[in-house]
Amino acid sequence: MTPDPASRAGAILEIDLGAVVANWRTLAAKAAPATCTAVVKANGYGLGAARVARALVTAGCNRFFVATLDEGIALRQALGPKPEIAVLNGPLPGSSEEFVAARLMPVLNDPNQIEAWSRLTTRGECPPAMIHVDTGMSRLGLSPMEFEASIEHIASIGAAFLISHLACADTPAHPLNAIQRERFLAARHRLPGLKAGLAASSGIFLGPEFHFDFVRPGAALCGVNPTPGSPNPMHQAVRLAARMLQIRKIDSGESVGYGAEHFMSRPGLLATVSIGYADGWPRSLSHRGCGWLAGTRVPLIGRLSMDLATFDVSAAAPAELYPGNMIELIGEHYGVDDAAADAGTIGYDILTSLGARYHRIYREPDAG
Ligand SMILES: *Cc1c(COP(=O)(O)O)cnc(C)c1O
Repeated sequence: MTPDPASRAGAILEIDLGAVVANWRTLAAKAAPATCTAVVKANGYGLGAARVARALVTAGCNRFFVATLDEGIALRQALGPKPEIAVLNGPLPGSSEEFVAARLMPVLNDPNQIEAWSRLTTRGECPPAMIHVDTGMSRLGLSPMEFEASIEHIASIGAAFLISHLACADTPAHPLNAIQRERFLAARHRLPGLKAGLAASSGIFLGPEFHFDFVRPGAALCGVNPTPGSPNPMHQAVRLAARMLQIRKIDSGESVGYGAEHFMSRPGLLATVSIGYADGWPRSLSHRGCGWLAGTRVPLIGRLSMDLATFDVSAAAPAELYPGNMIELIGEHYGVDDAAADAGTIGYDILTSLGARYHRIYREPDAG
């Protein structure tokens, strides 16, 4: 008999769709009466865009954002014709017709995209467009001057939504938040018929004056803390555990791993575990990450290899130390943001790097 895929997998990623739905409901309640949409770009921040979006449709979400046309086409196939899907990066030259075919709303970020879209809208039925006005991010979006020059054009192409994006929403005291809000208010004043949206995950927590008509969280749905420095109001949505392949005794003075950078200062027990940077577990966790084994913190020691990591399990309960048992790498003790802090990055990066080699298990939300 071949063992089932979960029992032979080197590492298992559990995705708790119930937690994602609970997070969406928390954010929707916070943003009400503004509508809560969902950003599922980059394959739903690594969790699986189709699975996440389908669970959110069931919970009542009916507007989604992705980054690229191909993400939009795939999501349209997964969700069917009904939910609205907007593509943040907008149409590349020559791709506008694909948006119409898949009924994707383009986010129009510059005068060329507006121009290309207007040529289509004169010919037939198109999904409504979203206009992105830059208010201080200087990344995508119409500059204030371009926006002013495009007002009449925008009104004529069936644009239905107006968005902008905050640069410092995770730092509530940052003065740019109020400046961006003022600029966004001014833009909305010029196009009062459009539904307006400014806040992503962290922006929702800046207060009702940032909510406008709709909000568009992504990372917070997946459990990343939208209020860094304060307790996380979101539920963890992923659990990652990797299997111990070998347990070994090691003497004081022996080195561990590539580069012989870690030396044992006392004899101990090591577990070699089936996870590495090829799984998207960041190599910058070398010497600094940790895992949890039945309630005991076990430090990652030495350099992380491509397919393997070494943990000092000397402190773990002996009964837990056998090949095949699993060390938890993301979970209740050590969340996405904790791993990110140790790796010198952000939770977004940890999630969107989650690898293709994990065996994935989806936990469906409870019915009702
Ligand atoms: C990624 C993105 C979002 C979602 O941001 P989160 O911080 O993940 O909530 C919203 N709007 C735009 C324009 C984005 O690029």
